[in-house]
Amino acid sequence: MKIHEYQGKAILAQHGVPVPKGKVAYTPDEAVEAAKGLGFPVVVKAQIHAGGRGKGGGVKLAKRADECAAIARAILGMRLRTHQTGPEGRIVRRLLIEQGVDLAGSKEMYLAILVDRGCRKPVFMASAQGGMEIEEVAARDPQAILREWIDPVVGFRPYQARKLAFGLGLPPATVSKAVPFFSSLFQAFEASDASLVEVNPLLLTKAGELVALDAKVNLDDNALFRHPELLELRDFDEEEPLEVEASQYSLNYIKLEGGSVGCMVNGAGLAMATMDIIKLAGGSPANFLDVGGGASADQIKNAFRILLADRDVRAVLINIFGGILRCDVLAEGVIAAVRDLEVKVPVVVRMKGNNEEKGQQMLRESGLDFATADDRTEAAEKVVAVAGGAR
Ligand code: GDP
Ligand code: MN
Repeated sequence: MKIHEYQGKAILAQHGVPVPKGKVAYTPDEAVEAAKGLGFPVVVKAQIHAGGRGKGGGVKLAKRADECAAIARAILGMRLRTHQTGPEGRIVRRLLIEQGVDLAGSKEMYLAILVDRGCRKPVFMASAQGGMEIEEVAARDPQAILREWIDPVVGFRPYQARKLAFGLGLPPATVSKAVPFFSSLFQAFEASDASLVEVNPLLLTKAGELVALDAKVNLDDNALFRHPELLELRDFDEEEPLEVEASQYSLNYIKLEGGSVGCMVNGAGLAMATMDIIKLAGGSPANFLDVGGGASADQIKNAFRILLADRDVRAVLINIFGGILRCDVLAEGVIAAVRDLEVKVPVVVRMKGNNEEKGQQMLRESGLDFATADDRTEAAEKVVAVAGGAR
């Protein structure tokens, strides 16, 4: 789960990481009020679940109240496009009003902690070349990124923090501040079960202080049950609406780019195999919807509705293994959906397993126009043909 910068900074601050003072604002009036409380200059920062806001015009300095109001009015409601939002951009609904830090004579660096799945350890990354283009640094000069792996049993050790601090070339007086800073950052990462904590830029001020000027925190969905207070930070406005709706019915819906076949499957393994066979047949999936092991006819109907709300879908492939979800229950849900929702796109059904014959018979006798397939290759070829081939 992604959260906003101001929420991430609150978590960091709780663990003792220095962040600028700031306040969230939903309206220009709230923005001005927050700014007056903080004192000018302030930075007005668009809060969206994507980076690159600075370059996209979503981070602005305000020296007076009228300027702050004008900037807040301009940014709130704007469609902010950055290299991370895609061309459609994101509507800005919240602002972070923050004490403006003087960047003169300062240095922007980079810090991140994430899980290195290959090593099965968290890795602490740091680079003296921070600011806005860390992706470019990684591509151009991978040596410029320091890495320190953390043994989850032993934890993050002070010598590792010193190694990173010296590696960044920090002045000696700042090294003693970097050690608690980095340790607090790791503590925040661990305590919140984060999958990523990124500070870019980490600011080294002219006075030799370290400040987290930006914060990106991603939380591990599988650990959220342990953090009800973090679950409340979820912002549904920032998520794909169909994915949110699917999760409300305990369905797993994933939107994919560039395809034309909607896929209804049960189980993640079958989902992957189904996408493979569609590709092999020359097509491309528009999405997949995993109805899980024991879906009801009603859930199947909701699943269909969500699948068809995706305007990229030209044809639907239902590839289900009847285990706990019996094929006749599936057929009942599919027939109800196609009737009630007046489905116009072609539907290809392949089902195997419990009550398969009964399910097939229900589809045949429904009077609706289903194409059925006996094996997966045939199913994929049929659906790709009706979806109009590859896109
Ligand atoms: P991002 O572009 O989405 O990663 O947003 P950031 O929070 O990193 O802000 C982008 C840039 O705005 C930073 O790299 C800074 O150069 C600038 N910026 C952020 N906060 C301040 C501030 O307090 N004062 C000044 N002068 N610039 C700031
Ligand atoms: Mn940033």
